[in-house]
Amino acid sequence: SISLLWLRQDLRLTDQPALAAALAAGPVLPVYVLDEDASAAWSMGAAQRWWLRHSLKALDLSLRKRGSALILRRGDMVRSLVTLARETGADQIHAIRHYEPRHRLAQQTLAREVELHLHEGNHLTPLDMVRNGSGARYRVFTPWYRKLSEAVQPLPPLAAPDRIATPPLLPASDDLEAWQLLPRSPDWSTGFSDWCPGEKGAWRRWRDFERRLDRYARDRDYPAIAGTSRLSPHLHFGEISPRVLWSALAERTGSGPATFRRELAWRDHGANLLDQMADYPDRNGRAAFDKLQWRGDAAADGDFLAWAGGRTGYPIVDAGMRELWQSGWMHNRVRMVAASFLVKHLLIDWRRGERWFWDTLLDADLGSNAMNWQYVAGTGVDAPVFSRIMAPHLQSEKFDMAAYVRQWVPELASLRDAEIHALHFDGGGAPGYPERLVGHQEARARALGAWQGLGTD
Ligand code: FAD
Repeated sequence: SISLLWLRQDLRLTDQPALAAALAAGPVLPVYVLDEDASAAWSMGAAQRWWLRHSLKALDLSLRKRGSALILRRGDMVRSLVTLARETGADQIHAIRHYEPRHRLAQQTLAREVELHLHEGNHLTPLDMVRNGSGARYRVFTPWYRKLSEAVQPLPPLAAPDRIATPPLLPASDDLEAWQLLPRSPDWSTGFSDWCPGEKGAWRRWRDFERRLDRYARDRDYPAIAGTSRLSPHLHFGEISPRVLWSALAERTGSGPATFRRELAWRDHGANLLDQMADYPDRNGRAAFDKLQWRGDAAADGDFLAWAGGRTGYPIVDAGMRELWQSGWMHNRVRMVAASFLVKHLLIDWRRGERWFWDTLLDADLGSNAMNWQYVAGTGVDAPVFSRIMAPHLQSEKFDMAAYVRQWVPELASLRDAEIHALHFDGGGAPGYPERLVGHQEARARALGAWQGLGTD
């Protein structure tokens, strides 16, 4: 019988259990549905649309090499799939299980209309499998991670098939370019050229990173060093399978592989929290923060724009925000500093920052983004206490960020390292570089005052 292979954030052919199961049943029609319901709370951000365009193109090319092709449809996910199944005589649909609320709902609705087979494959384990002794799910990372590590089974990857049997008649497909996923006037994606979306690009990144893996535990915190894998957009779009990476690491000892496994697991933890709290991207994990008086006046709006544009007068924050805008990615340590600055130094609601990241990050991921913002903001279910406020000048110094700042903030290129670290702290300036929006001590006192008003920890 004919199957539809419904592809979403699993745009790969290697270790693709939904593809393997569909092929075992007979000819397969791979399909991607662009469901652009503008009223949906978290419709795809602009940077992700860029990635998607290139990733779909790469996938179509790999499918064509195997005698198949990617069918593109635009519209409501469920209606489009039901229509396509009727048109083609497909009697089953295979897909990798998706945990975002919108997709879960679509899966439930679709299962009432067609024979839907959901396979695991985009996370290290099925998310609801990791439970404590009394059968409850975890919300705190460390005990969850301990249990998860025991539960993950290293598996040899399912090889990509050489040929993909296809029904004799292919149904009509949309034209990818007509979807207009790429930015036009202005084209802000010119700095994205280092990225190579698609399965091949993902594997190339992995192989390149594998050579640096033993230094990962130390290098990962230094943004001036290429110490991390930069796999995040590839993982988000499922171009490489996390289970394959975990299995590749199973044989390797030392702090590099161990730290990488743990980071990989943070991605699953984001999905784990979202799976338990569908409103986590929109609501404080700790309800006491609902009463916090975030700044929301015209001055705060101006500060938000300065933050987003990399003009806060805090070199490390500005370097990060400019890296994000220009390259679609930001180093994790700098993400933490920049996010903390918005929430605590500027006292602006974390959800505004989360939205900005959503639109500008190539790896924007509903679970990971929400979890990390709530963690940094102190509002999250397992976040450190709000009163732990990061000092940007100390972070800059400790993690040797001067060369990174010079790369992204050319106004500061002629300053010495110590001057770069201290600039915003001393209140000094540099020609052509913005004045700081707020002093560090003053900002700290304001944040602590707002938080103490809540009477919580
Ligand atoms: P590596 O260090 O090489 O890690 C390998 C993989 O592990 C990553 O690709 C990613 O899939 C996963 N990972 C690592 N750290 C984390 C983490 N803290 N949380 C979740 N997964 C992690 N990551 C996203 O993928 N999408 C987001 O939308 C996102 N938003 C973030 C927002 C804020 C405010 C912060 C502080 C962090 C956010 N992160 C997000 C997490 C992290 O910054 C990125 O995953 C990481 O920088 C990606 O770079 P890499 O692939 O080189 O990471």
